[in-house]
Amino acid sequence: MQQICILGSTGSIGKSTLDVISRHTDTLAVYALSAYNRIEALARQAHTFHAKVVVVPTDAAAARFRLAWPGARRLPDIRVGAQALCDTVQEDVVTTVMAAIVGAAGLPSTLAAANAGKRVLLANKEALVAAGGLLMQAVRANGAQLLPVDSEHNAIFQCMPECDAGGAPLEPAKGVRRLLLTASGGPFRTAALDALADVTPAQACAHPNWSMGQKISVDSATMVNKGLEVIEAHWLFAMPPDRIQVVIHPQSIVHSMVEYLDGSILAQLGQPDMRTPIAYSLGFPDRIDSGVGLMDLATLGRLDFEEPDFNRFPCLKLSFDALHAGQPACIALNAANEVAVDCFLKGKIRYTEIARIIEGCLDHAAGRASTTLDTLDDVLALDDQVRQVARELCLLKIT
Ligand code: NAD
Ligand code: MG
Repeated sequence: MQQICILGSTGSIGKSTLDVISRHTDTLAVYALSAYNRIEALARQAHTFHAKVVVVPTDAAAARFRLAWPGARRLPDIRVGAQALCDTVQEDVVTTVMAAIVGAAGLPSTLAAANAGKRVLLANKEALVAAGGLLMQAVRANGAQLLPVDSEHNAIFQCMPECDAGGAPLEPAKGVRRLLLTASGGPFRTAALDALADVTPAQACAHPNWSMGQKISVDSATMVNKGLEVIEAHWLFAMPPDRIQVVIHPQSIVHSMVEYLDGSILAQLGQPDMRTPIAYSLGFPDRIDSGVGLMDLATLGRLDFEEPDFNRFPCLKLSFDALHAGQPACIALNAANEVAVDCFLKGKIRYTEIARIIEGCLDHAAGRASTTLDTLDDVLALDDQVRQVARELCLLKIT
């Protein structure tokens, strides 16, 4: 029986994870759930899944949880604060941690799970972007298992039979030439370029194929999401940046591919439904039912592929630049993007300013190229500093 902690259980990935778990209650049990907001939804989840522990951000949230508790059954153990997330994932009883908090806020708890040698199901790509070296080292040193949940990386993982069982490779798998990451191109793939300055948060969040949290939806529109995923793939598969190619595939059916030296390309196909990669990571190495329906290829008809345009998607180019520049730049890319997307969602800056704010913060990080980033505290300190710079840049751009 796996005893599972879901960090960020009220989010899009968290809810899909519970949906898969509900189909396998004989082998998968919920030990702990956490949420930052939507505390009433957390109470309903904890009640339904008999969670032993919940983690909420504040005492006020804990009070809301108690008020919202639906039944006569005993309350779970209610814990408060970010440190409680780290402590909970490290408990002996926990076997598996679904890291599904959005943003670098998920880094400390993901790292804590790796340090405790757990099976870590990684949705929280920002943790790898900000601290890939630290996280992979923690996986190696503590015998943890790192299974990618992000659909592209899960696809690649499935297309690499010799990929050791969720370890942390030090070099690219034998015989692999390149990783081909697919991207839908988001809602603005064909929009007029001069209309982009005026797009609204609602338009940016209206993804053509996937239903996701707001931040990753905007990230998909700018394609910084694919940039973050290039960095994620670099760490997960020990792949040099020039052997990772991004290809636009508007139908989101081919979730990514591995190209081998003999010219073979292996692809994983499926519906754009995160329950498939989540089920693969929960069941690994077995295949388990995910609740995802059949895919009718004849109805689909065609699969298209095209080159991404850096003019339309400057954030994708900035991401490759950051990966080449090194860790301070990757931290800056991620932190600046989180601040800029938040400001855009609140209507404070234009969509097209997101790339400019990231660029400004990458310039700032270039001056910090020699910063030592050996510990979590080093990473969080630089992350914090970049956020301040990004917030100042946003203030200058306010519309
Ligand atoms: P979401 O916004 O729907 O949910 C985020 C969850 O994290 C919520 O439960 C929220 O309460 C919690 N949270 C937010 N801020 C927090 C904080 N500061 N501290 C603790 N908890 C916090 O996000 P999502 O779409 O589910 O994405 C989660 C992660 O998975 C992201 O890193 C995203 O990039 C990644 N991912 C998502 C998808 C998808 O289809 N949604 C696909 C691939 C990867
Ligand atoms: Mg993805």
